Amino acid sequence: MVDESSTTDDASESDDCERVERVQVSTAYGSGPEGGNSAWVLPDPGIVVDPGPPGDVAFDSVRSGLEEAGIGLEGVRHVLVTHWHVDHAGLAPRLATEADASLHLHERDAPLVAAYATERERRVDRDAAALSRWGVPDEHVASIRDADSPSPIPDETPVNDLAAGDAVGPLAVVETPGHTAGHVAFSLHAGDGSRADSRVLVGDAALRTVTPNVGGGDTRQETPLAAYRTTLDRLAGEGWRALPGHGTAFDLAPRLAELRAHHRERAALVADSLAALAADENDADGVTPWAVARDRFGDMTGYHVKFGAGEAFAHLQDLAALGYAERVADDPLRYRAVDEGTELALDVALDDAWRGTDQAVDD
Ligand SMILES: [Zn+2]
Repeated sequence: MVDESSTTDDASESDDCERVERVQVSTAYGSGPEGGNSAWVLPDPGIVVDPGPPGDVAFDSVRSGLEEAGIGLEGVRHVLVTHWHVDHAGLAPRLATEADASLHLHERDAPLVAAYATERERRVDRDAAALSRWGVPDEHVASIRDADSPSPIPDETPVNDLAAGDAVGPLAVVETPGHTAGHVAFSLHAGDGSRADSRVLVGDAALRTVTPNVGGGDTRQETPLAAYRTTLDRLAGEGWRALPGHGTAFDLAPRLAELRAHHRERAALVADSLAALAADENDADGVTPWAVARDRFGDMTGYHVKFGAGEAFAHLQDLAALGYAERVADDPLRYRAVDEGTELALDVALDDAWRGTDQAVDD
């Protein structure tokens, strides 16, 4: 399962609290962000959160994690998934089927797992359309589409829809959109309300060192950063300890402050790019998200194209909502800087947008 220190770190905070065990999910293809996926097991009600990517290697590592947690496959009653991305949800249909357990996702993300075959095709088309709309050249769009191959996931799987306020055992649903449209976190609460539990399973809403992509990971969202700000507000101020979808537990509040600072800084850089590129004759008709992404990140290939252009799109949409950019064309999207006065005014607007509701105004 995990080494002694992180087991101690991540498991029960006291005898009173639910036992929560981390399972380091192995894969055949090496590890992704922050050392691969973490599945979380609540042995008592028999819950697994975010079992991980599909494949036999992952399945075997989760099964031995369940045995170490003392429940085995047959002790699993519910499989919960924070969002539809394949590294979190991919193993969920197989685990639910083999354990005869129920499977749960937020209602906005559920179809992408429940009707995997048809929704995947729609998603690939939607992503290609979004990339074109962001101004990404056709050859990049085509190569991203070619690389987007189906995962070994059943065409259809029964999934229970979740919404805000729902609970499965001791886990309460907190809607945390932005990384995907239907991303959720699960907070632990005492069933009888007699004690507090400060732990929350956050999926990819916040990670210890990696900044979760907002904009490229789910092309159904028109204003992903506005959604993500709601998420940061929702997760702040509770003194929560995060049990993430990758890596080990961490204190949420200081990390949320870093994520706000990161996006506030990126917003200013995107505003700079927009102003600088508009001065160029090629972009006199307005600047595409792709042009801004190229200006910021240089040459990109593969999924970096999607994440880079998606992030630029998200920030341009956000600057437009704040009144510092104007959308002048729709396909491809083009934006122009709006001179709302001084750079200082933009600074104040960005400080305002990215200040947490828990952070006092200091002037
Ligand atoms: Zn994800």
